Amino acid sequence: MYIILLGAPGSGKGTVAKMIEGKFGVPHLSTGDILRDNVNKGTCVGNQAKEYMDNGKLVPDDIVIQMVKGRVLEEDCKTGFILDGFPRTIKQAEALELIFDELDITIDAIFNFEASQETIIERLSGRRTCKNCGAIYHIKNIPPKVEDECDKCGDRLYQRDDDKKDVVKNRLVVYKTQTKKLISYYEKQDSFYKIDANKKAGEMFVEVCKDLGQSGKSG
Ligand code: AMP
Repeated sequence: MYIILLGAPGSGKGTVAKMIEGKFGVPHLSTGDILRDNVNKGTCVGNQAKEYMDNGKLVPDDIVIQMVKGRVLEEDCKTGFILDGFPRTIKQAEALELIFDELDITIDAIFNFEASQETIIERLSGRRTCKNCGAIYHIKNIPPKVEDECDKCGDRLYQRDDDKKDVVKNRLVVYKTQTKKLISYYEKQDSFYKIDANKKAGEMFVEVCKDLGQSGKSG
């Protein structure tokens, strides 16, 4: 199963991606997570990406495309994957098409998560992420059982630097000027679906499963 998730930062696609991963057993490939991991480990890619990420700008296409090309060839991607945060530019979408052609992959679904500006700001300002396993919480909507502690692995939750007000502003401008164009790139395809992303994560997941022709009970 091959899925692409489109949508602004804070539209809930990362949270729903984890639910799809749990139900269908295909890996969630978040380019943001992979880049953050590289930054934390101080790799060459991480060092190149850090300044762009700190400022809410897009990491240059060539770096991200190379990274995705390598990741989709890994063993766990053999029967599918969920792309979250990639593609983000037309150049990335074109590169992805070539990757799919080379690997003889057909996309099952492209979901566009549509959320209001209000929802996005509320989600990003309350989002907390696990330092260790990347699980996503929200201080009001998806609170952990113990404050600031991950339910899954017990590690500490933190607020991403780029979820703070000034950087969020830049990320939303980048989304509007560069990434939103992808909607017209993909919307004519039969496998393109709109998701009302002002709804709760569980409700969005049910919609996604319905479009995939499955029941939405997770697990
Ligand atoms: P995310 O976790 O998806 O919100 O991504 C966090 C940051 O990583 C973005 O603000 C960008 O700086 C960088 N990033 C993630 N995915 C991409 C991509 N496909 N192209 C360029 N930069 C990206």
